[in-house]
Amino acid sequence: MHLQSAAKDLIRLPLLLYRANFGRHVKNTDDAQLWVLMYHRILPKNDSRHASEEPGMIVEPDTFRMHLEWVNRLFTPLKLGEWIQMKKNGDPLPEKACVITFDDGWRDNYEYAFPILKETNTPATLFAVSDMLETNRMFWPNRLAHIANHVEQEQLAREPLLAEQGITGNLRDKETLAQAIAILKSLSDEVIIEALNQMEVRLAVPEPDASLMTWAELKEMSDSGLVEIGSHTQNHMRLKENLNAETLTKEIIESRQQLESHLGKPVELFCYPNGDVSPLALTTVQKCYQAAVTTQMGINTSANLSSHQIKRIPLHNDISNNALKFRARLA
Ligand SMILES: [Zn+2]
Repeated sequence: MHLQSAAKDLIRLPLLLYRANFGRHVKNTDDAQLWVLMYHRILPKNDSRHASEEPGMIVEPDTFRMHLEWVNRLFTPLKLGEWIQMKKNGDPLPEKACVITFDDGWRDNYEYAFPILKETNTPATLFAVSDMLETNRMFWPNRLAHIANHVEQEQLAREPLLAEQGITGNLRDKETLAQAIAILKSLSDEVIIEALNQMEVRLAVPEPDASLMTWAELKEMSDSGLVEIGSHTQNHMRLKENLNAETLTKEIIESRQQLESHLGKPVELFCYPNGDVSPLALTTVQKCYQAAVTTQMGINTSANLSSHQIKRIPLHNDISNNALKFRARLA
């Protein structure tokens, strides 16, 4: 297995080298460019939370520090709101700007990322799920993982939600879990959440620990001046066609009010859960926020920027744990 991945790395090396050294991040252009990097969890391997999270969600602190060193070397690091404001004002934009973003409001961002942001004096933008902060509520993919860790596989496979979707594998295996999550995404969040509610009661699943940060931690980050806070909805509902108007209002508008009242400053930025957005949701976000980020991958330019559908570059540890891989990713 190790040999195989080493061989793969070797085959990819010329391409990696090319992309790392001749990518868009090192080319001169007339149009101002904007890289927006997307992070979720910052966790070291020896943290117990590392083992229970999907690898695609994690960057380790040492990797993150290395990323920030390169970001500061290659780009003008900014908060997203600063870049948007400069563009609005018609101010000259940096040739290559870069925004660090965090989704969800994980406590590990406060514990591990915030000290590194301070140490390297790098600004960032964090999108928080307003009704879930300071609770032990979990996003449904994490709830499924939590259930799988506490219930026998045979018992779990009999659960209607999983049986009906043909999900029979061992969900303690991370790849199988990721596949199951991908299958379940075809259902609406309401259906999944209701089924998990019943499952947790029926199977007597123990309460999880809180994994998101507290309001005080979020406020400390915001008050530092280094981290700007945006909304990532109230309950992390995917903003698809099936959401009713009442839920849409809560997720988009009330989340903003909730954040503003706790933080004591305006919240002008938004982030779509899972990148999903219906036409109605998009119109509502456009009315309510100055800008919004998607999960669509790419580099924005001043000319092609769609301010409420800003592209990002997702990062996780495996694809970015050395300088070559990270710089190739930026290309
Ligand atoms: Zn999210």
